[in-house]
Amino acid sequence: MIENANEVKNVHFLTLGLNYINDPFTFFFVFLVCKLWKRITKAHYFWKNLCDSLEFDPPNPQSRKYKTYHSIFLKNVHQLCTYCQQDFGSKQTSISKINFKLNILQDYCLDRWNFYRPTPIFKTRINYDFCEYLVDELEPLVEPSIVKGTELKLCLNCAIKKKEFLFNSIRQLKDSIYIKLKEVKYTKFFFKDIIRVVLRNLYKILKEDYLYIEKYGGAVKNYDFPKNL
Ligand SMILES: [Zn+2]
Repeated sequence: MIENANEVKNVHFLTLGLNYINDPFTFFFVFLVCKLWKRITKAHYFWKNLCDSLEFDPPNPQSRKYKTYHSIFLKNVHQLCTYCQQDFGSKQTSISKINFKLNILQDYCLDRWNFYRPTPIFKTRINYDFCEYLVDELEPLVEPSIVKGTELKLCLNCAIKKKEFLFNSIRQLKDSIYIKLKEVKYTKFFFKDIIRVVLRNLYKILKEDYLYIEKYGGAVKNYDFPKNL
């Protein structure tokens, strides 16, 4: 209820416009306009009415995460961003694709790591150690949810940050492989078998191209490929 003229001045025109909207997805589009509109939209009475009508529990002021009606709604409709759990999360196809490629590449490195395990006859460890290093470097880049097969839903902010993180890490990994190549002399066979494959595919991920792994039958577009290791 508006009690004095000052309050009227402080009511943003957007608040009034939103009074005529009764669909959460239109609200989510309004979020994208700017930070101010996002703040106004999130605080709108609409969310309280919606939560009340759906009989969701009201926000608990003691709780750390779900302080607003808006967050209560997202929690209950399972559309929360997997990372920040504060905002509307939607499927991120481009990030899922990058994750899929990193997962396949790490899988390939794991296979090769086993292959180069030292035996009483072939005692050399440098190939084995290099594969281990690749597996370890790729580990933090592979999204655990993709391994578990659950869906990754991210808000716009987290999606941008995630993609930046992945691309920066891939560039760093590429650079650190080149540094290692200067320090240690690997055999031609080993270079072709793993180093070239990894470098080529890191470039492909950055260019958002399909992976290309000969031992996996060439272009890898999904998990359905013949392994010829
Ligand atoms: Zn988020």
